Amino acid sequence: MTKWVYNFGGGKADGRSDMRDLLGGKGANLAEMSTLGLPVPPGFTISTAVCTHYYDNGRRYPDDLNAAVEDAIGGVEKRLGMGFGDSTNPLLVSVRSGSRASMPGMMDTVLNLGLNDETAEGLAKKTGDRRFALDSYRRFIQMYSDVVLGVDHFLFDDVLDSVKRANAYTLDTDLSAADWEDVIEGYKRVVADETPSGFPQDAREQLWGAVGAVFGSWQNQRAITYRRLHNIPDAWGTAVTVQAMVFGNMGNDCATGVAFTRDPSTGENVFYGEYLINAQGEDVVAGIRTPQALTKASRENAGSKMPSMEEEMPGVFGQLVDIRTRLESHYKDMQDIEFTIQQGELFILQTRNGKRTAPAALKIAVDLCHDGVIDETEAVSRVEPASLDQLLHPRLDPDAERNVIAKGLPASPGAAAGIIVLNADDAEARAGRGEIVILVREETSPEDIHGMHAAAGIVTTRGGMTSHAAVVARGMGRPCVSGVGGMRIDEKSGQVMVAGHTLKTGDRLTIDGGTGEVMLGDVETIQPTLSGDFGTLMGWADKHRRMRVRANAETPADARTAVSFGAEGIGLCRTEHMFFDQERITEVRRMILSTTEKARRAALDRLLPMQRSDFVALFTIMRGLPVTVRLLDPPLHEFLPRSDGDFADVAQAAGVDVPTVRHRALQLHESNPMLGHRGCRLGITYPEIYEMQVRAILEAAVEVARESGDTVIPEIMIPLAFSREELDILKSMIDRVADEVGAGTSLTYLVGTMIELPRAALCANKLAETAEFFSFGTNDLTQTTLGISRDDSSNFMGPYVDQGILDRDPFATLDQEGVGQLVRMGVERGRETRPDIKLGICGEHGGDPDSIGFCEAVGLDYVSCSPFRVPIARLAAAQASLKSQRPGD
Ligand code: ADP
Ligand code: MG
Ligand code: MG
Repeated sequence: MTKWVYNFGGGKADGRSDMRDLLGGKGANLAEMSTLGLPVPPGFTISTAVCTHYYDNGRRYPDDLNAAVEDAIGGVEKRLGMGFGDSTNPLLVSVRSGSRASMPGMMDTVLNLGLNDETAEGLAKKTGDRRFALDSYRRFIQMYSDVVLGVDHFLFDDVLDSVKRANAYTLDTDLSAADWEDVIEGYKRVVADETPSGFPQDAREQLWGAVGAVFGSWQNQRAITYRRLHNIPDAWGTAVTVQAMVFGNMGNDCATGVAFTRDPSTGENVFYGEYLINAQGEDVVAGIRTPQALTKASRENAGSKMPSMEEEMPGVFGQLVDIRTRLESHYKDMQDIEFTIQQGELFILQTRNGKRTAPAALKIAVDLCHDGVIDETEAVSRVEPASLDQLLHPRLDPDAERNVIAKGLPASPGAAAGIIVLNADDAEARAGRGEIVILVREETSPEDIHGMHAAAGIVTTRGGMTSHAAVVARGMGRPCVSGVGGMRIDEKSGQVMVAGHTLKTGDRLTIDGGTGEVMLGDVETIQPTLSGDFGTLMGWADKHRRMRVRANAETPADARTAVSFGAEGIGLCRTEHMFFDQERITEVRRMILSTTEKARRAALDRLLPMQRSDFVALFTIMRGLPVTVRLLDPPLHEFLPRSDGDFADVAQAAGVDVPTVRHRALQLHESNPMLGHRGCRLGITYPEIYEMQVRAILEAAVEVARESGDTVIPEIMIPLAFSREELDILKSMIDRVADEVGAGTSLTYLVGTMIELPRAALCANKLAETAEFFSFGTNDLTQTTLGISRDDSSNFMGPYVDQGILDRDPFATLDQEGVGQLVRMGVERGRETRPDIKLGICGEHGGDPDSIGFCEAVGLDYVSCSPFRVPIARLAAAQASLKSQRPGD
């Protein structure tokens, strides 16, 4: 018989923290904390296996589940001496979702379940606090009806507002027990109007309704979106935890809160968190009231007058500090803890490895390693490579002038400048059109996720450091300023009022999520560096890395950035980019428009010194590190103008007449240029173009070697080859030019090719007879293998991923199942012929952590990516090496 239900409570548990696949992260950690003897209200977890069963069987539960749940309820009843549905001493429970990966706020939790007209009275009598009992009941009706029955929550807000208005109340806490009774009657009427059978009074019916809703929420839109953004498989499913309620809303000796064992923004080893007195559950994260600080120090830092928990409830605070230490040393990582205080008694409701910013992740990993809690390799594996992206982009220049118009909480670090948008749909639409947007909202909710993802930065006028906006922004690496009190938003008129300014949608704003500043207009930025913890961790990563990391760069600026980020060479220098320069493009066009080889050579002769100076600059910056230069790749028509007006300019500059230009453009027109006259096909048909480039490369190498004393070994790369014959023709040209250039010097160079056509991968053993290195050009290889043009794929890639035809966009993460086979084949066949052949990758995938894992697995020598991704690639390569060394993986 399968065990579907796992109990916890009273210092014991059926589960453990390493059972998160089955119990979800929340359930597994509740079990673990229970075993550790922490004060966890008892309960049980219905496993993810039930979720899988549920979806595999047309949304039906296993036959023996009911009995197992009844058993588990009985256990909790016995432990607490209460009865589920009992009218004198009612057991109330929460029904909580939890999957293997944490999905904060993505799924629905129901609190106070078990309340009905009778048990609410029972609770009132038992506690002697009728107001509390009714407050809990109305919360339950609203939550249950919203989450389980699908009744719009604003209908309940209307009822509450009308009761408040009738009595001229402003706060929820102004309502008396009698007022709550009115509200409850109103709520029940809403449910009766909106649903076939009204609000269920039976506790068991409520329980199964809520369990079904949690399983159902696994397939709701926001959960699906979250999974897609975080690459969480649909098949994992969620667990459901049912747990005895404790109450933070029974008076002023009660509270609910969230704590981090370290500061999740900076990583500093300080206790950090927020709490709300006399509140329940989501009140803290929902941003309805601005919460108070946990510690005196952080209260003082924030300049708040509201007392901290340390000052207000020193006894319970002491216990919480104790638990902080115990949990961190147990889990050996920063924890995010949810707790509730009921009449002075502390309960822990959740712990998990806390989400953190990239700087915090670095600091925490380095600190824990220095403290001997984890070792270097563990520290390296603790930092998400992609998250480093946050640190690799410009920051606000501290010396730049800034017109600060408001200040909020520094909820997620980083700077962003963009235009104001006031809702998520707008953010997504405008970002889709290439605009950089700052999403400004009162507060955010899970419905805003797509807009938050599209935005460069987020501002909220309400909510604290653990509000939805703050938590999600930190997870996504979006700069965020939350709780900007002095800012008012009028969505209808599209206006934001702040400090005497009236801003409109589309106006420019800069935010600094590290300081909480909001600034008018754009503020100057500066380039990032790898120093401090970042540098330390990268050093550790380099020790454990097998593959080398190079950069794709052609300009001196890019090459310098690459070197400063630790690139160990250039893996792809695209020479065509060098042709677009103002003064050169004229010569390039003259060359293309030439009708005779003689005229073409004359134009090329004028291009030669320019091209040579490019390579001199690159080789000088790279100081003897390998540089792979790719010969001209795109079809020639890309260099010709497109509009009629431009034709005239070009004709004049090139000294020919307009009809000649037009005629040539027409000649060069191709119906499918991606598969047309490009790559080495150009070199075969116009050998003088490649000859000029090769001469420029080799002359530059000789010059730089002579001047600097560095050994310069250029790697000349032939694009788009599919046969050895192409390589042979071009290699003999290269060797001939080298003989001319290198006469009397010790000129060394390599000749290799890109593998970007299926035929090249299939015939790699033949190509390797001539090629001394391969670089997998996986952008084109993906296009030519899937028969999909990357630039035209945006119309259908979304639906393809949504419908599960493709797991991910294959242009972002290598399609290992398909394209990966060709890469593997290229590697194996290439090595068969030439065991020491140098192998690298230079497509977009060279900077993608998952694809880098694949490159390690197939044994490439290096990856090459854009300069700003070099540190990401260094870390990802180290993690991939470590993973391959771990037995059993
Ligand atoms: P999420 O996954 O969105 O964090 P949770 O299941 O943790 O959802 O529930 C949200 C909040 O509800 C918790 O942080 C806690 O404050 C409250 N809560 C959940 N279960 C209980 C309980 N048994 N007693 C009191 N409060 C609870
Ligand atoms: Mg939680
Ligand atoms: Mg290509």
